[in-house]
Amino acid sequence: MTNSAERKYGLWEIVIGLEVHAQVSSASKLFSGSATDGDCGPNTRVNFFDAGMPGTLPVINSFCIDQAIRTGIGVHGKINKVSIFDRKNYFYPDLPNGYQISQFYYPIVSGGYLDVFDNNEMHRIRITRIHLEQDAGKSIHDLNPTKSYIDLNRAGVALMEIVTEPDIRSVEQAIIFAKRLHMLVQYLGTCDGNMEKGNFRIDANISVHKPRTPFGTRVEIKNLNSFKFMQAALNFEIERQIELIENGGTVTQETRLFDPQNCVTMTMRDKENANDYRYFADPDLPPLVLTDNRINEINHGMPELPDQKKKRFMKEFGLGEYDADILSNDRLVGQFYDEAVSCNIFVDKKAAYKLIANWIIGDLFAKMKECSIEMKDVSIKPTAIASIVAMIQDGTISGKIAKTVFERIWNEPNENPSDIVIKANLKQISDENEILPVIRSIINENTKLVDDFKHGKTSVFGFFVGKIMAYFNGKANPELVNSLLKAELSK
Ligand code: ADP
Ligand code: MG
Repeated sequence: MTNSAERKYGLWEIVIGLEVHAQVSSASKLFSGSATDGDCGPNTRVNFFDAGMPGTLPVINSFCIDQAIRTGIGVHGKINKVSIFDRKNYFYPDLPNGYQISQFYYPIVSGGYLDVFDNNEMHRIRITRIHLEQDAGKSIHDLNPTKSYIDLNRAGVALMEIVTEPDIRSVEQAIIFAKRLHMLVQYLGTCDGNMEKGNFRIDANISVHKPRTPFGTRVEIKNLNSFKFMQAALNFEIERQIELIENGGTVTQETRLFDPQNCVTMTMRDKENANDYRYFADPDLPPLVLTDNRINEINHGMPELPDQKKKRFMKEFGLGEYDADILSNDRLVGQFYDEAVSCNIFVDKKAAYKLIANWIIGDLFAKMKECSIEMKDVSIKPTAIASIVAMIQDGTISGKIAKTVFERIWNEPNENPSDIVIKANLKQISDENEILPVIRSIINENTKLVDDFKHGKTSVFGFFVGKIMAYFNGKANPELVNSLLKAELSK
């Protein structure tokens, strides 16, 4: 293997497996009718069942089940026709029942994979399982020095826990995988992916070992809610484990937390084992049985997945793998590209497909980065990019003026690029009768330079081009200027 992590850590090999908690996008909770939008003040989304009152019973939310099936199909997993909800028993002040309903022995999805591209190589990361479980409530300790508060709005909200095999071999791969999964659930609409709110959070398991020896003891880093933190936490943990072992110590299997302020991980608790939780099938819930019909129906309603979209972009629009990968990764970016290329206004369609890809990956992404915004906040319309490309192709504007038009459209997204060209008088000048006299007069004013040029000083050519373009405020057709100038200078 040749990736940077292995080079960096010498003889040590890195093994990572992830457990991702993705909050299911659903209007109501997994086993109760309470709403899931928690922005309405603490404990306003809590019914008797969520609060663990005696005599209340769970009722399964079939939409959440569909969402888990959709996610399972999205990772090429096997949808189990029978799965079982178990009680995972532990005490926590924000867990009113004293147990969490989860799926331990028989999850709803088994197996699957996602492919990640790293260092120009494809790596298949296998998915072990996806199971459904309830989220817990929230304890708030920092409002009052002598009191703790409990907010149960989140208690009982559906989570999908997506577990991978320990197939990841570097921090880079772990990040690419996590980002890919993050995009996928948003593509599918099964999780909104909001990491700041904790709706997509990652537990990373990591160990180090020497080649051809068994895997090392793993440490679990809990609740990473940004890719940046994840990267920093994993890097810190690798160094910590290697240093510990090289100094004669042994890694303890434990759960650690990442402290973003100091960029270190700290012991949270010893790793508990499954048997500590006394899992047993929840007697209030019958086994969940799915019909073929239901699974097939969801399968047929699946949107185009990133991998499929990537292949289509390569085949239909002749894009290279790099462009296709970037444009298919984010659903909204893919949609933007699809809409732009479907405009039927290009002189040369095939060239336009590539030009539009360049405009999105180059200029648009640069602008988004500069303004720190995401695709969902972009107000430029795909048709505007298409129109800019069409105007370059038919000679209305030069590539350079196109950047000016783009800049204006960015600030006034409701304007039409072709109107801007007319209003701001940006139209390219391609009339020989207009350009030639200017070239001639500039040549006449600089006869010495013309001599230099004739004696082999080729840089003079650029000077002349610059002068001519400046005269026309950059609007003269560059190709025409070049060819006319060449002809004039060789007279
Ligand atoms: P638990 O449920 O107790 O956390 P699991 O057996 O489900 O334990 O494993 C959790 C995660 O740990 C999985 O993502 C798995 O890939 C990962 N894992 C298992 N062994 C190792 C190891 N030696 N190094 C790194 N990760 C590992
Ligand atoms: Mg775990």
